[in-house]
Amino acid sequence: MGTTLQISIDDIPDGVLICDRTGTIQAFNGALEQIFGYAREDLIGRKIEILVPDRFAGHAKLRETYALNPVSRPMGSVQRIFGRRKDGSEIPLDISLSKLNANGDIICFARDVSEHVRLAEEIRKSAYFDPVTGALNRRAFNEDLAEAMSGIDARANGVCIGLFDLDHFKDVNDTLGHSVGDKLLVAFCDRLREVMHEKMRLYRIGGDEFALILPTCADPQNAFAFVETAIWNVRKPVFIGAHEITIGCSAGVVHAPENGITPDELMSNADLALYEAKIIRGRVSRFTPDLREAVEERFALMPELKAALEKDQFELHFQPQIDIRSGRTVGAEALLRWNHPKRGLLAPDCFIDLITGSEMSVSIGRWVLFQACAQAQKWRALAGRPLKIAVNLFPRQTYSKSLVNDVTWALADTGLDAGSLELELTENTILDSSDNFIEVLGYLRGLGVTIGLDDFGTGYASLNSLTRYPVDTIKVDRSFVSGSAGKPENQAVLRTMVMLAREFGLVSVAEGVETAEEAQIIQQIGFNLGQGYNWSRPISGPEFEKLLKSGGRKPPAAATGQAEASDDREIQAVGMPDIHGRSRQVSV
Ligand code: C2E
Ligand code: CA
Ligand code: CA
Repeated sequence: MGTTLQISIDDIPDGVLICDRTGTIQAFNGALEQIFGYAREDLIGRKIEILVPDRFAGHAKLRETYALNPVSRPMGSVQRIFGRRKDGSEIPLDISLSKLNANGDIICFARDVSEHVRLAEEIRKSAYFDPVTGALNRRAFNEDLAEAMSGIDARANGVCIGLFDLDHFKDVNDTLGHSVGDKLLVAFCDRLREVMHEKMRLYRIGGDEFALILPTCADPQNAFAFVETAIWNVRKPVFIGAHEITIGCSAGVVHAPENGITPDELMSNADLALYEAKIIRGRVSRFTPDLREAVEERFALMPELKAALEKDQFELHFQPQIDIRSGRTVGAEALLRWNHPKRGLLAPDCFIDLITGSEMSVSIGRWVLFQACAQAQKWRALAGRPLKIAVNLFPRQTYSKSLVNDVTWALADTGLDAGSLELELTENTILDSSDNFIEVLGYLRGLGVTIGLDDFGTGYASLNSLTRYPVDTIKVDRSFVSGSAGKPENQAVLRTMVMLAREFGLVSVAEGVETAEEAQIIQQIGFNLGQGYNWSRPISGPEFEKLLKSGGRKPPAAATGQAEASDDREIQAVGMPDIHGRSRQVSV
């Protein structure tokens, strides 16, 4: 004998609704009221379609078909359907349908599955996000890039990609541990987000590689400028636990459609631009069509370059530095040249980046220091007075342990007075300098060596460096000097820099002084020293000695017809017309 169980539909936690064969609502329970937000009196006697979104226009027809041949459908067996709530919003539901009686009434159970849908969406999303940084991941990047590029050649605006690679990230991971490494990645993303515009999207596409999609970007120059600013923003020190860390990164920039019409082509070119930027860290490079060839060509030089020091193929050239007031040569900057067996004398722009990015820069830098000191000591004997030699440091020298040794050894071995040596640093040189580099500089200055800040005014941190590093000289970049005649705005910058130098008690040097007019400008503005083609191009050691021996009366190269120095482009410049139109000799 069976037991009769009395239950009310209100005891059922799912929504329950009964309608007749014409689809008219007869009854429903409290759970259903909750789901749809209707009160009982709103619904009784209404057609079931009131609960169906308008977009399912065929519902009434479907219902009629079902009523002719009702079959029970358990929960979940129907595809997810959507209900319409009283406020018009849609709600995802699982429903189950059964014939209730011989009259053809239908009972429907409905379960609100919005939480389930939300979770599923979250899981789906998590497939597109990097859990460490919250940035989108590589999968999202591939899909979004493909979408951004579809039909790109037909559109007026292009798409720009900035590809970022963190410098020395592996070192941070290895020395400070992965948890600090992770926090650094988060800090990197936060710093980028600070400057990102609304439409830009950030992706982590590798361990320490990130990409930024800049959609609807018509001018790649804007993207380039943005990425440059972004990496400087990233550089502001971050504090992770007890560590103060500066995040350096390099970036490559590409623009579609001109740098590629497929994602693969575009990314291969972006890789190349990044690769170029990484040769000297902390840079941004833009892809140009000749970049591939240039990079390949330069890298072809690498094996020869590695052997160049051993084969004695380097030489130094020297560019006189002139005391503006007296017109005397008071020193020189040592500039590296590579005497390539087949290509002849090469200027640094062909090879200096390759050295800078490689371990060999420490030994080549050491060689430069030694040669430069030896020369200056020789000149002292020739001229009977000290001449100062300025030497450019490579970034790696600033974090190699051997810098103090190398300098003291070069001075001791050549007998040069420490006061006759100046070390030139650029913003880039000191980007990655070791923590104790400031002490190293302090120690070297204690010996009498002076420190010059090169290319001053070009970096984003020039002023900051002035207060942070102990320096004696600022060398104003030639971009402000060359062509300054007739440019009052450049002259205003030059004037400000001289004032700044005075304020800090520093020697001011103007480099890239190409014409007599520019020489006059920098004299009027009050620079201490000048350097540039106006007085002389960089010349070989023997040329410089000749200059000293002749008391500065060196005949123009063209007049002597000599070809003893291989770089006659440089030699010819000695003896350019001076302010008064006479052939000017370098005065020593
Ligand atoms: P820098 O230190 O800014 O050197 C000055 C550069 O400006 C030299 O180019 C010089 O020839 C050029 N220059 C001099 N006067 C004028 C002028 O009136 N007008 C113009 N337009 N240019 C002028 P260079 O010798 O080709 O050297 C290029 C760069 O290579 C240097 O720039 C420096 O950053 C790097 N470099 C050269 N030698 C060394 C070295 O021994 N060690 C390191 N670390 N870097 C070096
Ligand atoms: Ca320099
Ligand atoms: Ca310079």
